[in-house]
Amino acid sequence: MTESDWSAATRNWVTTLMFGLTALVAAVAVPWYGLAHGYSGADWAWFAIVLCANGLSITCGYHRLFAHATYEARPALKLFYLLFGAMALQNSVLVWAAGHRVHHRYIDDTERDPYCARRGFWFSHIGWMLHNYPSGEPDFSTVRELQADPLVAWQHRHYLTIALAMNFGVPLLLGLATGDVLGCLLLAGLLRLVVSHHVTFFINSLAHMFGTRPYTEDNTARDNPVVALLTFGEGYHNFHHMFAHDYRNGVRWWQWDPSKWFINLMRWAGLAYGLKSVPWFRIQRARLETQFRRAEAALERRPDRATLGHLRARMAEEYAAFTSAVQAWTQLREQWLQSTRQAVADRWERSILQSRLRELERALGTQQRRLRLLCAQLG
Ligand SMILES: [Zn+2]
Ligand SMILES: [Zn+2]
Repeated sequence: MTESDWSAATRNWVTTLMFGLTALVAAVAVPWYGLAHGYSGADWAWFAIVLCANGLSITCGYHRLFAHATYEARPALKLFYLLFGAMALQNSVLVWAAGHRVHHRYIDDTERDPYCARRGFWFSHIGWMLHNYPSGEPDFSTVRELQADPLVAWQHRHYLTIALAMNFGVPLLLGLATGDVLGCLLLAGLLRLVVSHHVTFFINSLAHMFGTRPYTEDNTARDNPVVALLTFGEGYHNFHHMFAHDYRNGVRWWQWDPSKWFINLMRWAGLAYGLKSVPWFRIQRARLETQFRRAEAALERRPDRATLGHLRARMAEEYAAFTSAVQAWTQLREQWLQSTRQAVADRWERSILQSRLRELERALGTQQRRLRLLCAQLG
């Protein structure tokens, strides 16, 4: 399909009217009611709470649980995600996850990635939903195991009813409780929906355009702490595209990722289990690999590269050290996993294995700092 074929795609009037009218009415009615009547603290509190319930249902539920299976959840938690995710009006889990799995598989492919960032900010943010593009057609063969989940299948069958009931029912009930029905319908209903839409869409647009690429430069996904702040932690998108089966996106403990904290909270409450995370060494390895590639490219760009033989030699030395550390780690880890499986190895042997693994991890950290100095010399 060429760019002229893209412009021939027919308009999707349902999504166009939904996104257009909700934004327009919110822009006019929310300030009008604020000026004419005023909002109470409770109205704003419910706006924030429902926004968080929607946002976390999309990030922890639709995304990390259903689309990527980075952990497992008890039915009560699944139901919460399915109800409040439907309220976010981003289609059923089945449609959402089918599109998202294709996005990961064909990232940046202008023909197949449904929200390909290479087709521009507007397209990846919202444009992909406003026309009937072939790349946007959900491929349900990618979500067979989700189709077999009775709760997910139920949400897909009754999506529209659930979505409408939640969008009108929840703000209405909150309004009856606070005594300000219209205030709640406007803030927890309308404004919440518009904000919730665009903060999620930032993950497909901003997080593929602005930020750093510490783990891989093979795709457009970026790590961006500001986007993470807006998207319940999903802004660490370069990490996510590299390690999509990890339940975290902000992998460091200090990185703002409320979705990771919420999943941990659910684990503590007994509602989530089997959380998957990538070993620290593999994460460091990806960072170093990227640093090496960057350093080599910087060296090639230098006009005086012919005279930089000593730097080239040091880099080759570092790379050799890196590869042997990776090999040693892989072997040790295999031994360690085997000893865990057999459960016969004595604790002494296992603690030795563990401390050698940690030593290798530390060595990789030191190497990363040396490489950073080397890169600084290359300018
Ligand atoms: Zn992405
Ligand atoms: Zn993903």
